[in-house]
Amino acid sequence: MIIICKPEATDAQIAHIEEAIRNWGLKPHTSRGVQRTIIGIIGPEDQARERPLEAFPGVESVTPVLKPYKLASYEFTHKRTVIDVSGVKIGDANKVILMSGPCSVESREQILDIAKIVKKAGASILRGGAFKPRTSPYTFQGLGKEGLKLLAEARKATGLPVITELMDTKDTEMVEEYTDIIQIGARNMQNFSLLKEVGRCKKPAMLKRGMAATLKDVLMSAEYILNEGNMNVMLCERGIRTFETYTRNTLDLSAVPALKKESHLPVIVDPTHGAGHRDLIPTMALAAVAAGADGVMMEVHNNPEAALSDGEQSMLPDDFESLVGQMRAVAAAIGKAI
Ligand code: PEP
Ligand code: MN
Repeated sequence: MIIICKPEATDAQIAHIEEAIRNWGLKPHTSRGVQRTIIGIIGPEDQARERPLEAFPGVESVTPVLKPYKLASYEFTHKRTVIDVSGVKIGDANKVILMSGPCSVESREQILDIAKIVKKAGASILRGGAFKPRTSPYTFQGLGKEGLKLLAEARKATGLPVITELMDTKDTEMVEEYTDIIQIGARNMQNFSLLKEVGRCKKPAMLKRGMAATLKDVLMSAEYILNEGNMNVMLCERGIRTFETYTRNTLDLSAVPALKKESHLPVIVDPTHGAGHRDLIPTMALAAVAAGADGVMMEVHNNPEAALSDGEQSMLPDDFESLVGQMRAVAAAIGKAI
């Protein structure tokens, strides 16, 4: 931690800061320049970070030297994390994983039918919500436990591992029992009790970026899960709120190389919730592969007109299948396979 003092900081103020640093069990290292005095704090940065350094008279600014996320940082492992989900390797440098399925599990027939469709097209993980974080309390909220059971049936029928969202700490055990990957949705990215709970789970987690979250916020949320012991965490860019209203959100594809530079965790892109309109999704899915995503999550529905959620952004089976063909070509161009 580096403290830059104001030009007018007095000797007494500087001595007061140095004394406080010593009292915290840390060591001040003071450099007096002609214009400014700079105080470096020697010792564990976490301890210094907890202190309200800017509250001290004479302090102009405080700059951390280390990143606040540790377990999530690339420096922690110096190699990319690969998460094995029943043989599907997420984060493998030569692979792009497709997670596809409906927004919500609606019925046995619906989920079984869509699971077969996405498997045939090339998806290796089935998605489907049983607990839905809807903006309105008057819209379909998901089938709950019944939806989880249907997902498990679809896994049995197709062999596809499943991913589904956990919204509430009280459902953790139940969701973990049925799912292969626990999804934390954008709206819960900073629900810290939920993150800690998932950190104590044995199943891998996918953390979606909050609508107004910076990449640092995402990594700090991942840190909560990792810190509890669950090291199988993947991050998901799903679009952020901006002033643009044409798209549902603004898909920030620069998040992919940025998160991969900062972190060892696999990065998934969800162009469906990012774009929000069916016709924009194929282009953004291709761009996600080109950007280096480890996986792409997309909503597919066999009858979007009758979908109970997100029908307008769900891809039709045939369009999805031809998109996967194009995605394979883009993946091959950067040395990857789907
Ligand atoms: C979802 O994937 O079903 C979902 C609700 O996404 P998000 O949390 O990104 O809005
Ligand atoms: Mn959806």
